[in-house]
Amino acid sequence: MDAGALARARAAALSAGAMDTVALIVAAGRGVRAGGGLPKQYRALGGEPVLSRTLRAFLRHGRIDRVMCVIHPDDLALYAAATHGLPLAQPALGRATRQGSVLAGLEAIGCAARVLIHDAARPLVAPALIDRVLDALDDSLGAVPVLPVADTLCRVDGAPVGRDGLYRVQTPQGFRFDAILSAHRASTDDLATDDAGLARAAGLDVAFVPGDETAMKLTEPHDFLRAEALLASALVTRMGTGFDVHAFGPGDHIMLCGLKLNHDHGVLAHSDGDVGLHALTDAILGALGDGDIGSHFPPTDERWRGAASDAFLAHAAQLVAERGGVIDHLDVTIICERPKVGPHREAMRARIADILGLSVAQVSVKATTTEALGFTGRREGIAAQAAATLRVPFEGDPA
Ligand code: MG
Repeated sequence: MDAGALARARAAALSAGAMDTVALIVAAGRGVRAGGGLPKQYRALGGEPVLSRTLRAFLRHGRIDRVMCVIHPDDLALYAAATHGLPLAQPALGRATRQGSVLAGLEAIGCAARVLIHDAARPLVAPALIDRVLDALDDSLGAVPVLPVADTLCRVDGAPVGRDGLYRVQTPQGFRFDAILSAHRASTDDLATDDAGLARAAGLDVAFVPGDETAMKLTEPHDFLRAEALLASALVTRMGTGFDVHAFGPGDHIMLCGLKLNHDHGVLAHSDGDVGLHALTDAILGALGDGDIGSHFPPTDERWRGAASDAFLAHAAQLVAERGGVIDHLDVTIICERPKVGPHREAMRARIADILGLSVAQVSVKATTTEALGFTGRREGIAAQAAATLRVPFEGDPA
């Protein structure tokens, strides 16, 4: 590329960036007060790293064009593990102070219209809070969410401090990009912990918008407990069903709900043909709204020839965990004349619970015949139907 083309490419990139709204997530802190032996932004919250929850809140917001982190140089491996698969800009490396880290992030962004600077340790940031900050930037160079002070305040000597005019300041703090970059470059207050304060000191107008108690900063161990409780209460119930059939063929045993049962036939199947586990797998995938067993494990794929079906069920459960969800209950009904299921029922419940890490009380196994009617009545094959009840985070339209 010649110099002219380079200049044109740079101008195009700058003009593209000039309209951007960028979320800059400050994750360079060492905060280990919360426990767990690693910086709090990498600790798990509801089965997912705090940082990844925070990032996804911005990535799925329709008004954010780019999301970038500032991270500690020692945390590259933690960052890679926590952000695997997320469409992020290359992270900036933080410096010794928060102010230095934010400046490094702003410099790395390069060009944008607006920037939201947000603490990585505030994962429960609602779309509406982001919207309030962005809306306020239409009329101000900066905007910060604030909350009133409810408790009585006093100094260490007991002297009361009036609450009038006092607010608690949260993030995301929004700014017109050029204004906050200039303010940071000019600041001599190396220990500034708050971008709004730094902006005000530089003479920028900073608007207040209503904050959100849910967007609390995770600092102490009890903050994690409170956030876990909030997440659990925010889960929604989803139910899915599954159905599966396999024809009997030559053989002397079948796999059913993870157990090998002696039988006067085998089943015709690409995998081990376990109708119980196949129906349960489809029920879980159904509750997730994530395709079916055939789309995850195509019968044309040689990898699944003769495969043990507990791997399919465990994979479905893994998908639930990756969404931050939990399996509440499973119920499967085996439909056949033979083999008799009753004598194996409790062992089947235990096996399914074991595959999924559930308690036996969360798994139901039932059986019925079809009164000698139809293909199961003629003993030509075996069927199963299942229901799965999950609780998963609501991931609907952020608007
Ligand atoms: Mg099947």
